Amino acid sequence: MSQTLDTSVDIREEILRWKEKRNAVILAHNYQIPEIQDIADYVGDSLGLAFHAQETDADVIAFCGVHFMAETAKIVNPKKTVILPDANAGCSLEESCQPEDLAAFLKENEEKNYYVITYINSSAAVKALSDVICTSGNAVQIVEAAPKDRPILFAPDQNLGEWVSRQTGREMEYWEGNCYLHVEFTRESISRIKEEYPDAAVVAHPECTKAVRLLADEVCSTEKMVHYCRDCEAENIIVVTEAGMLHRLRKECPDKNLIAGPTDRCACADCRFMKLNTMEKLLSCLKTLEPEVTMDEAERAAAEAPLQLMLDLSKTPAWDQRFLGLFDRCTEKYQGGNTDFNTYFTDVDLELLESIGYRTRELFDFVEDLQDYGEPSREMALRVATVRRAYYIDEMERQAGKNTVLPSDLPERGDELSGIAWLPRILTKARGKLRGELDPDIMYGCGGDRKFLAEHGLDMADFLRAVWRAEGADDPDQAMVDYVKSASA
Ligand code: SF4
Repeated sequence: MSQTLDTSVDIREEILRWKEKRNAVILAHNYQIPEIQDIADYVGDSLGLAFHAQETDADVIAFCGVHFMAETAKIVNPKKTVILPDANAGCSLEESCQPEDLAAFLKENEEKNYYVITYINSSAAVKALSDVICTSGNAVQIVEAAPKDRPILFAPDQNLGEWVSRQTGREMEYWEGNCYLHVEFTRESISRIKEEYPDAAVVAHPECTKAVRLLADEVCSTEKMVHYCRDCEAENIIVVTEAGMLHRLRKECPDKNLIAGPTDRCACADCRFMKLNTMEKLLSCLKTLEPEVTMDEAERAAAEAPLQLMLDLSKTPAWDQRFLGLFDRCTEKYQGGNTDFNTYFTDVDLELLESIGYRTRELFDFVEDLQDYGEPSREMALRVATVRRAYYIDEMERQAGKNTVLPSDLPERGDELSGIAWLPRILTKARGKLRGELDPDIMYGCGGDRKFLAEHGLDMADFLRAVWRAEGADDPDQAMVDYVKSASA
């Protein structure tokens, strides 16, 4: 198979011509080179790619990613011809968990009856040994749906597993694997870039080590990074994942300054496997239909069951979608004239609110103000809940706060901190909000808070996050004064 091309040929046009001729669809992962992303029919993360592979009616799937991803496409849509530009595009996570080793481990520990949750970055043979598959985008949902009476073995990414365990409160045992690239980001390399851009937000992939995740304002899958960067108030955002993601983010969020998170070795991080695919190889595989992904039917069928379970579970809305749904239902009740919020919530709703460290009155206050004053928006309510939820999980380890901030504890409206009126009052509220310790009669984000935030060019979710960050400063009050002043400036 020749990789040589006549340089006079416009490779892009050629790829499109062969794509049509083969009735092919080009699916590309977020980490692919920009030229491939730009010519693909769909660009996304492993979960989105699996859904697209399953639903396509094209005859050929040209999968621009790594081998396990193309294999996943074949598992969920076996009648299609699946091709991969470079058959050597592997993955260190896949390599770290060999099917013989996993099978032997499960046999040795048969009496434990593990529920095996396997990250999609694994071979078909490993998937076939699993109960369910997950991606970084749905791992929390998948773990939450796991049977409560069985111990979980999470394979093969220990970092992702530890992050999910923290998010869900579910203890798990881990297979010792990692992504060679994401562990190259270090606390030192990210701290250095943060010093260079002190006002930047940091978003990191959960495959990073805990030391790096702790420096991030948000930890999420590549797909969720798109939403985070779009909604984030910060203009500068440090993106801690494979460098190919920057191309997608720059297209989706053109008004943001997106900075590649550096490793200790270089200014950005390219996965040596992902970057094996080139435009020339893509053209070649469309022409020759090689390398083609094939597999034994019995193994494919065994791997399909846990993958299909993942796809089915992923259709159940995650907590943020459920929160918005609940917000909308409460709004309808309020608009219908029912102001007794105690009648709004079902047991399932209460369980949801408890799981994110939220109280019914907190939600109701936002619903009521939106109807009566036109703000804060439901999206802002969600962003505030997101910060509170993260604090509840990360800092409070899902334990309720032990104190209560009473109305009599609040500084007076005219009180000042370094000449900034209202700051002492909103700071006391924000600290109570983070800890879930506000008396029900106190609303963080009330009309007075909104006026203060608007005057200083701030928003209530970012302010809450800044209060959290300032907890680590030598003088948290002074850190907040500096934060408000720099926003006003
Ligand atoms: S970035 Fe890491 S997890 Fe992703 S394909 Fe490369 S080695 Fe595998």
